Amino acid sequence: MNLSKTVFGNVHSIETFGAFDGPGIRYVLFLQGCPFQCQYCHNRDTWSYEKNKQMTADEVLSDFEKYSHFYRKGGITVSGGEPLLQIHFLIELFRKAKERNIHTCLDTSGGSYHTKNDALFMELMTYTDLVLLDIKHIDEKKHQSLTKSSNQPVLAFAKLLDQLQKKVIIRHVLVPTITDEEEDLKHLRRFLNTLTNVVGIEVLPYHKAGIKKWNDLGYTYELEHISEPTKDMVKRAEAILMNDYLFLSLLK
Ligand code: SF4
Repeated sequence: MNLSKTVFGNVHSIETFGAFDGPGIRYVLFLQGCPFQCQYCHNRDTWSYEKNKQMTADEVLSDFEKYSHFYRKGGITVSGGEPLLQIHFLIELFRKAKERNIHTCLDTSGGSYHTKNDALFMELMTYTDLVLLDIKHIDEKKHQSLTKSSNQPVLAFAKLLDQLQKKVIIRHVLVPTITDEEEDLKHLRRFLNTLTNVVGIEVLPYHKAGIKKWNDLGYTYELEHISEPTKDMVKRAEAILMNDYLFLSLLK
């Protein structure tokens, strides 16, 4: 008798032709539920922990195989919401994906990381090829104001990934007047300088594409008055965060 319990993922949605979340064309699985409440979230409908589409790892991989000719230079990315909330499902999915030689990428805010579960996080990392880690704000108070949560788990997770020498791309959403202060960007750069596993840094310009979802769900979008950053603002932030940065490829 097989007593092992089937692990289900609580899936928000699936994108079969993702071009922005990892290398190549990717199958992107968005999981339901998020511990953060980012003011600029463009996936407001992923926050709830309610039961949505339930899928096993085998079901996800069978679906992936239907479009596998697209993904020869890509793979599978799990995003959210916050995928690490469903770490048991993630371990199962990425373990099975690696058995099929599929490139695996985790897109996370790191918000649910806790050292007490290090063994699980480390197990997941043995099956993960690349992590896209969002650092929403380096300043604790401003992070709390932006996301209603602490940035301590995020920074601790970044350090664990460094310790494991897991390849990571750091992402920072640039929101004028909120996440683009020069001092904060320099502070973030100092933190990034302590890491030796970074393969890329991406400054993502804030955009308002998510407002409709907030309105449709009956919530107030508090950043309506904030403009999207100009190209010069993005270039300035990129210069602070990336100029002469020692990426992993340069360190080896
Ligand atoms: S971490 Fe991502 S999904 Fe969660 S609230 Fe922030 S932007 Fe939205």
